[in-house]
Amino acid sequence: EIKIITVDGPSGVGKGTLSQSLANHFGFHLLDSGAIYRVLALYLIQNDEQDALEDEIVQFAQAMDVCFGSKTQKVQVLLSKQDVSELIRAEHVGTLASKIAALPKVREQLLQKQIDFAKLPGLVADGRDMGTVVFPKAFAKLFIDASSEARALRRVNQLKERGLSFNYHTVLDDIIQRDIRDRTRTIAPLVPAEDALVIDTTSLRIDEVFKKALNFVEG
Ligand code: C5P
Repeated sequence: EIKIITVDGPSGVGKGTLSQSLANHFGFHLLDSGAIYRVLALYLIQNDEQDALEDEIVQFAQAMDVCFGSKTQKVQVLLSKQDVSELIRAEHVGTLASKIAALPKVREQLLQKQIDFAKLPGLVADGRDMGTVVFPKAFAKLFIDASSEARALRRVNQLKERGLSFNYHTVLDDIIQRDIRDRTRTIAPLVPAEDALVIDTTSLRIDEVFKKALNFVEG
């Protein structure tokens, strides 16, 4: 039996870090579902099709040649054999990803790609609707949350580490806009699954979040 742990929550809440730690701890595979939406967004941008309509985007989703690998710790994403792992992290790619993620046919098209990540011995699935839609039968569901201000601050610090400087208010504004889109869309809105443990990480350190998550998964 494939064991599945789902980790859902809003943008910039530290799901990626937590999911990676859990996957390492249990020796499970890792699904960064946001990367799937991001790579499709990047593919549209590369083809100058950022304004494409839903049905056209579905066709791009079918046509794109994506490959997920993992080099040591980090998830590696290949689009048309090119390593786009860094490119898909750009803010404008995330923004387009969140727009196309609101389109029902696009979500449906990307569903099977995500389910296919479930492999023995287990999977940690990171996203927005992992526990509610993609893996409703997962044995442990986590929902990670934090205030938008705390998330904006973390994001600015992350960008600083990468040598990029961003205005806090611009980042906060983007997070709020993305939250509104993610939480209010009609399809797969961002809500905790009924059987999820909700962890508010606003004033928790990464290791404290990990401990809480581990207690729940193992308990
Ligand atoms: O998590 P990440 O920021 O990489 O995701 C990019 C965008 O993709 C999110 O803003 C969200 O709108 C969308 N997404 C989604 N469902 C998922 C993962 C991501 O709608 N499971």
